[in-house]
Amino acid sequence: MQTVIVKASDGHCDVDGIKQAANILRSGGLVAFPTETVYGLGADGLNGQAVRKIFAAKGRPADNPLILHIFDLKQLEEIAAAVPDCAQRLIDKFWPGPLTLILPRGDRVPDAVTAGLDTVGVRMPDNDIALAFLAACKVPVAAPSANVSGRPSPTSALDVMDDLGGRVDCIIDGGKCSVGIESTVLDVTRPTPVVLRPGAATVEDIRSVVGEVAIDPCADGIDDCATSTPARSPGVKYRHYAPIAPLVLFEGDPKARLVELSRRIEKLVAEGKTVGVAVVSESLPYLPSGNGERLVVRDMGSALDPSRIAATLFSVLRAMDRDKVDIILVEGIHDTGVGFAVMNRLRRAAGGAVVRCS
Ligand code: AMP
Ligand code: MG
Repeated sequence: MQTVIVKASDGHCDVDGIKQAANILRSGGLVAFPTETVYGLGADGLNGQAVRKIFAAKGRPADNPLILHIFDLKQLEEIAAAVPDCAQRLIDKFWPGPLTLILPRGDRVPDAVTAGLDTVGVRMPDNDIALAFLAACKVPVAAPSANVSGRPSPTSALDVMDDLGGRVDCIIDGGKCSVGIESTVLDVTRPTPVVLRPGAATVEDIRSVVGEVAIDPCADGIDDCATSTPARSPGVKYRHYAPIAPLVLFEGDPKARLVELSRRIEKLVAEGKTVGVAVVSESLPYLPSGNGERLVVRDMGSALDPSRIAATLFSVLRAMDRDKVDIILVEGIHDTGVGFAVMNRLRRAAGGAVVRCS
């Protein structure tokens, strides 16, 4: 299959290109498009047959439901059976933005979107190109992240091309994603809202709007939710966000963390391994200098700015793959605010390979 590329970067919306992409989607095709979080792989969210193509292109397990993307609140009427009061307050505060709400499912939503659940995830992205595209599509657009299942999410059109080139009909190139990690997923169908997946809409910010908020045990990425049944958000039970090389995460006291990380680097380089290291800016001066090409160090940004770290996280992991390192060592960050979402992604990319330092 030939993948059409529509250029919409530099803040410009190529109106004809967006229309062309929307026509492809409306006739049952797959279109990858930029959002503020990560690139999405979109299909007509009311067309079950089109939605099933997403699962095939990504290799996504069929029991992992998709999020519907909308550009206008009126669209909620056709996809949600009800909008609870607390959901309305969250919509007023966070939309457009990186918060997905799990709502009671409307009759028109196909099973392929919800994986048969009686709820549906909905979000309005905060990105002008995404909103223009969704408006041109006129239908709710079902879209998971536009990566091969299990890989780090794509934050540029090039990332999408690397994973799905030739497997999707169209990619809208809207430059880099500003947030860089997927949306917060919040279930508002329960008496107390539950965070199923942390994201840039933080637990603290959500609490300031609705008061009490619960956090699903799988949301911190520590528990192995593959074995907990049933997982509330099916997506959380799969290993995710993982680069090709094994990833080891170093958590705990910052000084102890750095000592242990340095020791590991020296040992692995001495064994002849090519080591990728991702640390916060503050740690850069303290790393061993390594052995030329054997050590690839990447700066994730200041520990004081977790939003910046979120914005670079997946591109750093994908860059390590392009560098063909044998192993990736990553320094953890503080576990609050957006840092909680960053640590969720890193713990799951590590798949249990976590070194706790004290
Ligand atoms: P992705 O779009 O790839 O970022 O994944 C969407 C995430 O939202 C996955 O973790 C899904 O399991 C979750 N999700 C989507 N719809 C629902 C739903 N109805 N109930 C619970 N989780 C959902
Ligand atoms: Mg995903």
